[in-house]
Amino acid sequence: MTERSDELATRLAAVRRRIEAACTAADRDPGGVTLVAVTKFFPASDVRVLADLGVTHVGENRHQEAEAKAAECADLDLTWHFIGGLQSNKAAAVAAYADVVESLDRAKLVAGLQRGAEARPEPLDVLLQVSLDTGEGGGRSGAEPADLERLAEAVGTADRLRLCGLMAVAPLDEDPARAFARLAALRQELLQSHPGADVLSAGMSNDLEQAVAVGATHVRVGSAVLGSRPGVK
Ligand SMILES: *Cc1c(COP(=O)(O)O)cnc(C)c1O
Repeated sequence: MTERSDELATRLAAVRRRIEAACTAADRDPGGVTLVAVTKFFPASDVRVLADLGVTHVGENRHQEAEAKAAECADLDLTWHFIGGLQSNKAAAVAAYADVVESLDRAKLVAGLQRGAEARPEPLDVLLQVSLDTGEGGGRSGAEPADLERLAEAVGTADRLRLCGLMAVAPLDEDPARAFARLAALRQELLQSHPGADVLSAGMSNDLEQAVAVGATHVRVGSAVLGSRPGVK
């Protein structure tokens, strides 16, 4: 084992223990929570190490980096989640390599994703990213809660897209437990009209416990697994 694979193994084990403890606390089956390792800024060699350690879902947030890494790791059996801000002129390209697009936040993206997904054997899984910001301090992306139903309908018109649920990032200026409580309510609402859309992607390195507590099915964990990102605090 190299030093890096040692480090990743240790970090990954700690994150898995946190997820298990959070599931125990919430009386949930740990099998109901999927870890998406967010590998942005880290090299494909780290993705390989993680795959060796049993990671099956990886997340990336920048198109060019994601596209290159997915190509370098094409021999691995991985599910690629695109979790970053999407430009409409890149949507089709993202749909060509991503297995799940978590950051669909406006109807304008649907046509590009649909077009990019046409070459795929299976429809593309998409999550609607919803904003949990309450006012001034926020600025993190996502659709307004009031727009979710309309956005879900737009996805419903695209036969190459499969609406799987919601994604959100907790605001920086609020207790994540409070923000995620709103998210859980939005999920219940969406499930009324779209019963199959039961995925909830929430929780990152600093708030995965609060997300598991409200029913997250996917946690997106970067720095706790990979270490601090180069050039990022
Ligand atoms: C970077 C990122 C993450 C992972 O953040 P960490 O705090 O490093 O765990 C999760 N979700 C999104 C949307 C991200 O951009």
